[in-house]
Amino acid sequence: MRKKLFIPGPVEVKQEILNKMATPMIGHRSKEASKLQRDISDKLRKLFYTENEILLSTSSGSGLMEAAVRCCTKNRAAVFSIGSFGDRWHEMARSNGIEADLFKSETGGITEPEIVDEVLSTGKYDLITVTHNETSTGVMNPLEEISNVVRKYPDVIFCVDTVSSAGGVKVEVDKLKIDICITSSQKALGLPPGLSICTVSERAVEKARGVKNRGYYLDLVSLYDAIKKKDYQYPSTPNLSLMFALDYQLDRIMQEGLDNRFKRHQEMAEYTREWAKRNFELFAEEKYASVTLTTIKNTRGTSVKDLNEELGKKGFAISNGYGELKEKTFRIAHMADLDLNDLKELLTVIEEILSIS
Ligand SMILES: *Cc1c(COP(=O)(O)O)cnc(C)c1O
Repeated sequence: MRKKLFIPGPVEVKQEILNKMATPMIGHRSKEASKLQRDISDKLRKLFYTENEILLSTSSGSGLMEAAVRCCTKNRAAVFSIGSFGDRWHEMARSNGIEADLFKSETGGITEPEIVDEVLSTGKYDLITVTHNETSTGVMNPLEEISNVVRKYPDVIFCVDTVSSAGGVKVEVDKLKIDICITSSQKALGLPPGLSICTVSERAVEKARGVKNRGYYLDLVSLYDAIKKKDYQYPSTPNLSLMFALDYQLDRIMQEGLDNRFKRHQEMAEYTREWAKRNFELFAEEKYASVTLTTIKNTRGTSVKDLNEELGKKGFAISNGYGELKEKTFRIAHMADLDLNDLKELLTVIEEILSIS
C-alpha cells in the first residue's frame, strides 16, 4: 500500500512534479541546459534572499556539506553540533584530513551564540558550520542571533546546513551573511532525492582558491568556475531530470508565494505542537521547536514501531526517534507540500490507533 510520508525526507512529492522528471533529455552542453540552470539559479536566489551564486551537485545534501568544509577550511574548522547532522559535518572534516573541533550541545539543546563568540574569539578558526534545523532532535537554532556573533569575525567562512528548513522557513542568506547555505532536494523543497543545492559567496570561493586538495567531483571552485565561465554548465553531467522538476517546483513555490509557504509551515507546526502537548509532550523547548518537523516525547510508552506498522496499514508513515531517541520519541514531519488537512487526517488516525480522544 502506498504510504503518505510524514517523515523528514524523502517527503511526499506531487504527481505533477514526478511527471516532470519524465521530460525527454537534452544535451548537458546545449543552450537549453544553460537556460535551465540560469532559471533555477534566479528562482533559488529569491528563495534564499541572496545575490550570491547558486551551485547544484548531483549528490544528496551531504555532498555540498562535505565540499564546503573541505574546500574552504585553510586552518581549522569549528563545527557546532546539536545532533546527528552536526556530528556528520565533523566526521566529514576529519575523514578529509581537515583540522576541525566539535562543539556539541546537550541533546535537545541549541547552539548558544555566546559559546560561538567564545570559540571564534580564540582566533583559531577560519570556518564555522552551524545546523539551522537539526532533524534528529527537531530543534531549530536561533540563526539570527548566531549570525550576529559570527559577523564580528569577518575572516571566518560561515556555513549553514538548512537541509531540512530551506523552502519551509525563511532563511535570508545575505542578511545573515551566510557564505555557504546548503539544502537537499528531498526535504522542504518537495522533490525526490538526488540534488544538493547551495548558495556560495564570492568570498568563500576566493578563500577556496587558496586551499590545496579540494578533491575533484565536489570541488566548489571547479563547480563555480564552470557555472561562471561555461555559460551555466557543469564540469560533469548533472541530474537533468531533477533539474526539470526543480525548475517546475520553484515556479509552483513562487506561485504560492514565499510568505504564504512559510505561513503554511508555521500553521502546520503549531497545530502539531498543540496536539502533541495535549496527548504527549514536546521534546524540544517550544521556543526552539522546529517549524518543519515535531519531535514528540513518547510519554505514553507506546511502541513507536507498532504505531508505525498500524499507520502503514492505513497508508501513512511517520518517523521513530533518531539514534538513542529511537523509542523515546517519534517525529512527525510537516514540510514541503503537505497542508493542515493532511496533518489533521494523520493525527486523527494516530488517535484512533492509540485509542486517545
Ligand atoms: C537530511 C539531512 C541532511 C543530509 O542530507 P542528505 O540529502 O541525506 O545528504 C543533513 N542535514 C540535515 C539537517 C538533514 O535533515
